[in-house]
Amino acid sequence: MRTLVTDIGLLAGIGTGLRKEGLAMSEVGCLKDAWLLIDGEVIAGFGAMADRLPSDVDETADVAGRMVIPAFCDSHTHAVWAGSREREFEDKIRGLSYAEIAANGGGILNSADLLHRTGEDELFAQSIVRVREMMAAGSGAIEIKSGYGLSTEDELKMLRVIRRIREEVPAVVKSTFLGAHAVARGMTRENYVRLVCDEMIPAVAAERLADFVDVFCEEGFFTPEDTALILETAARYGLRPKLHANQLAVSGGVQVAVAHGALSADHLERTTRAEIECFKGSGTMPTMLPGASFFLREPYGNARGFIDAGLGVALASDYNPGTSPSGDMRFVMALGCIQMRLTPEQAFNAVTINSAYAMGVSDIAGSIASGKLANIIVTRPGFDSIGSLAYRYSTPFIEKVILRGKSL
Ligand SMILES: [Zn+2]
Repeated sequence: MRTLVTDIGLLAGIGTGLRKEGLAMSEVGCLKDAWLLIDGEVIAGFGAMADRLPSDVDETADVAGRMVIPAFCDSHTHAVWAGSREREFEDKIRGLSYAEIAANGGGILNSADLLHRTGEDELFAQSIVRVREMMAAGSGAIEIKSGYGLSTEDELKMLRVIRRIREEVPAVVKSTFLGAHAVARGMTRENYVRLVCDEMIPAVAAERLADFVDVFCEEGFFTPEDTALILETAARYGLRPKLHANQLAVSGGVQVAVAHGALSADHLERTTRAEIECFKGSGTMPTMLPGASFFLREPYGNARGFIDAGLGVALASDYNPGTSPSGDMRFVMALGCIQMRLTPEQAFNAVTINSAYAMGVSDIAGSIASGKLANIIVTRPGFDSIGSLAYRYSTPFIEKVILRGKSL
């Protein structure tokens, strides 16, 4: 099936590079008055309406001057969880910190208890709703982590649910094993790290359930030494790291991430010059999660510092029940502009091509390019520039989401 989309007012996000860094973060490839050819699941070409249109097509869809952009890529989510942690919302309003909530038996351990009591089918049913919500909000590629299991059996349950989601939805879904999200109840940190390395990683690898490995390398959770041990073990099973680092304090996580060839180091609310320098020349994408900063009233990452140093930045939602209960990447883009003072173009690149890179899919998603998946958003009338998406940040802007060439 070849579908020709015609009369696109602005086709934005054109490009073939795998990531953008430094000054290139300010550039968004655009074509006014354009057409786009979709062949099955992929983009087969694009061009100006003034030029000759492809003739060998099965159908034509006139979008009457609408803007077309690539679907968002969300490289960091915890979208599989059981139940709700709404009660903690009130604790947070009353002023308890993340660490205090965790110390009171809430936080990740609370989610682990709920998940343990929830069967795989029920967990899938609850989680697929969130993934569909994310797709409807424009996300065409989504990374999902385990990490609310904290036992071999429950971590495998989470990862099997992620696999079922991947088989069910048109979005590209990547799976990350985050056994080292917190130390399970009743275990020492040392014993838990041993469990992750000796039992969980081999079991995950045996079922080929994960694309990546992640560790919560944070003060009070896992040290850089624990992290290195887990990453070295995972590397033997072919799992590339994506790391949680520098959310609660300068953790040393960035250095471990870069040393182990991580695809991304995520959070980075607290970074010094040394962390920024560390990323230079690496393949590791600095990734920030402004939805978590917003929800927790914590500092935002110094995204501009990274860009000024010639680096790229990705933004992701961190969709999770405790610290970022939103998977809305357009809101993430707006926070990038409003709170992190990124230009709309920088924030747009951060939620599309760079976030695609941070989850290892920028060869098939994150921009408009021939051969990439036809994952696109057709915007509503009135949204005719990249800036308008972030400026009118709560006005519904999506007319249609098309993933793998088909409308949702
Ligand atoms: Zn996270």
